[in-house]
Amino acid sequence: MNSVSEYDVLVIGGGPGGSCAAAFARKQNFRTLLVEKCAFPRFRIGESMLPTSNAILRATGAWSKIQAAGFVPKHGALFVLSNGTVTKEVIFSESLVPGLDSTYQVERAKFDALLLDHARELGAEVRMETTVRSVESGAGLHRVTLEGTAGTTETVSARWVIDASGRDNFFVTEQKQALDPATSPKRMAVYSHFRGVKRAPGRAGGHTVVVRLEDGWFWLIPIDEERTSVGLVTTLAAMQRAKLPPEELFWAAVKASAKLRELFDGAEATMSFRVTSDYTYFRRQLAQERLLLVGDAAGFFDPIFSSGAYMSMWSAQLSIELLTRADRAGRGLTPRERASYTNAIKNHAGVFRRLIEIFYNNRSFAVFMSQEVPWNMMPGLTSIVAGHAKLTWPLWWRFKLFSLICRLQLRFQIAAPLDYRQPDAAG
Ligand SMILES: Cc1cc2nc3c(=O)[nH]c(=O)nc-3n(C[C@H](O)[C@H](O)[C@H](O)COP(=O)(O)OP(=O)(O)OC[C@H]3O[C@@H](n4cnc5c(N)ncnc54)[C@H](O)[C@@H]3O)c2cc1C
Repeated sequence: MNSVSEYDVLVIGGGPGGSCAAAFARKQNFRTLLVEKCAFPRFRIGESMLPTSNAILRATGAWSKIQAAGFVPKHGALFVLSNGTVTKEVIFSESLVPGLDSTYQVERAKFDALLLDHARELGAEVRMETTVRSVESGAGLHRVTLEGTAGTTETVSARWVIDASGRDNFFVTEQKQALDPATSPKRMAVYSHFRGVKRAPGRAGGHTVVVRLEDGWFWLIPIDEERTSVGLVTTLAAMQRAKLPPEELFWAAVKASAKLRELFDGAEATMSFRVTSDYTYFRRQLAQERLLLVGDAAGFFDPIFSSGAYMSMWSAQLSIELLTRADRAGRGLTPRERASYTNAIKNHAGVFRRLIEIFYNNRSFAVFMSQEVPWNMMPGLTSIVAGHAKLTWPLWWRFKLFSLICRLQLRFQIAAPLDYRQPDAAG
């Protein structure tokens, strides 16, 4: 009879969420198995990190490796109107919260592989090119079926499961089918990596550049000395109206914007275009008695404020803290602990969600782009844009006030509207 391998913690997925969870589990001496369906390095979109991720990576012990990996330092972000007439620079060192001065833009293939190797070095057992097919839970133990590339299957057992399997629905449970109601229109992103996209000189060359169109936006993220990740985000409805294939839609939007034409002059794609659509969702319950959803497996809103990888790593840290306490007491998570995990993540995500709403509304976006933000609100907003979604009092009142002004702007004109017309069409 085959014996079943037993683990304390089984982690599904080797993205930033899964690898950080495995690293934190090892730091608690748990026998840890991480299962990843792909061979690494593998492509992933989501290259812009937030400064609040640094402390988490420091706590895993991977930070010095990240610093030595040659990633592009990121000191802030630049928001630009598509005709180039209005710009707003967010500089992280002007944040109200100390220690959020900078982070990195990363090529995810390299970043994810580095974090996975780090978890392995800490003693996590890692199975690559292995897919989790099912998890059967009962009597304080999960029986997990794994499938290798040759179709071979194996069953292992674990007291705890961390589902960090991302957005890919390779492993769907009943729990994952129940979603919060959608609050925004369905959006899509068309993206690729490019060589030759123009950058600002000096430190600002590492910024994420967001080019805001009247009905969408572009990200430009430098991922190494030469290459820049660029993507167009628009609604599925706009895409259908345009009746253009995604790549043509991308180039048409570049052509229509004076700013993008300038940045793209002489640039060429280094890989084929990719499309991700309808990526906004949040699962209703994020924890069961001995299973926690981490990162994109729990939910994802929108890439605009680069919160995805940070949320994955932060929820990984939180999930291991929670299960460690319960495990040491020889029990699963209480209903209260499960609810508090779900609420903690949704509250954190809720802060980004409000910023996202403000960004997508043309009227409130005009407030965001204002050059003079009164009452010293901007350093508070900068902290949140740097990822500090934990709203301490100095951040809380600034955020609430800013949010209120944005709401008022929907009815009264507090900030002047932005003029999206292109120079050649402005008349
Ligand atoms: C268009 C777009 C742009 C984005 N831009 C940014 C950005 O600039 N900055 C940012 O921080 N975030 C960004 N994001 C979000 C970011 O991509 C994700 O939030 C982040 O990758 C989530 O990390 P994760 O570890 O939760 O999941 P993932 O990185 O998706 O990792 C999940 C892993 O699980 C594996 N897996 C899946 N199913 C199984 C299974 N059954 N068995 C074994 N393994 C499995 C997958 O192969 C994968 O490696 C963007 C997202 C989109 C859609």
